[in-house]
Amino acid sequence: MNITSQTTKPEILVVMPLPPYARAQLDLHYIVHDRIHQTDPQAFAGVASGIRAIVGSGEAKVPRSLMAQMPNLKMVSVIGVGYDGVDTIAANELGIKVTHTPDVLNDDVADLALGLMLCAARKLPQADQYVRQGQWLAKGPMPLARKVSGSRVGIVGMGRIGKTIAKRCAAFDMPISYTARSTKADLPFTFFASATDLAANVDFLIIITPGGAATKGMINAEVLAALGKGRGEGYVINVARGTVIDQPALIHALQNNIIAGAGLDVFDGEPTVPEAFFGMDNVTLAPHVGSATNATRKAMADLALLNLANFYASKPLVTVVPECQ
Ligand code: NAP
Repeated sequence: MNITSQTTKPEILVVMPLPPYARAQLDLHYIVHDRIHQTDPQAFAGVASGIRAIVGSGEAKVPRSLMAQMPNLKMVSVIGVGYDGVDTIAANELGIKVTHTPDVLNDDVADLALGLMLCAARKLPQADQYVRQGQWLAKGPMPLARKVSGSRVGIVGMGRIGKTIAKRCAAFDMPISYTARSTKADLPFTFFASATDLAANVDFLIIITPGGAATKGMINAEVLAALGKGRGEGYVINVARGTVIDQPALIHALQNNIIAGAGLDVFDGEPTVPEAFFGMDNVTLAPHVGSATNATRKAMADLALLNLANFYASKPLVTVVPECQ
């Protein structure tokens, strides 16, 4: 038996900076070429044929042009549930399986959605500053805020995370409506066929669809105007992908009091965030931290690693994305 072939670790390409736990686990089991395709294309060309798997986070960009440079590539393991940066059409054509990490992050993303909703309506970041800066003492009580409990919530995307958000909203006594590609007969919530109709009937609009071409700009000026109801009402919370909202339209709506406010975890073009947001008092911003807790990032990494291990052991993959099944 060839000892070398037994002990040589498989080679993988990592296309995004990864959290320390995921990176350490990968280093244990694989030879990791970390973004070498960007930093040293010549060296990448030398190792490309030995690479059979790519690993990246949910924001990873894996276009056809990259996959085509690795003739033996057979797998893309995404550490995240969203995979809108992976060209799944090309992957299918090239015989490459794409896996992701659904479900293990539902709780965290739902928690953050509620957190952003509370921050936007109750102005918690501003309240913190109000105390720290001595304004409480100098000016007295803060201006009154918007009540959340009992308000109407609309959820755009009623999948794994959307349902988890709904569970939390129910505990806040919020009447729940939603839109998705299809109605969910098993859910006791009100369905609206369009985001505009949904927005017109709710106080808080929470976005939790996938990104990509199908949802690009779905939350546009018309939807935001419907949410505002001509009275500057309504809050939009985005924990999906920045591309789902028409960002210039959102900035316009916030600057002109077409809606009351926003809570945003994701941005079109992130990590670059339009400076227009920075001076606004009616928006709460977060740097894409929906799943960013130690426990959940570990669970995501473990699932991605299991998919990788199964691939190299010729066992069935655990969580293949629907387009590549
Ligand atoms: P999921 O279970 O696949 O649910 C997606 C939902 O979106 C489904 O209800 C689906 O409708 C709906 N949808 C898809 N395309 C649509 C369209 N064109 N128009 C209207 N609705 C559409 O996915 P999930 O696990 O809940 O994750 C959702 C997304 O959250 C991910 O893809 C990712 O982009 C984002 N995310 C963000 C973070 C973060 O850190 N902020 C973390 C995790 C995930 P049907 O049910 O009718 O198919």
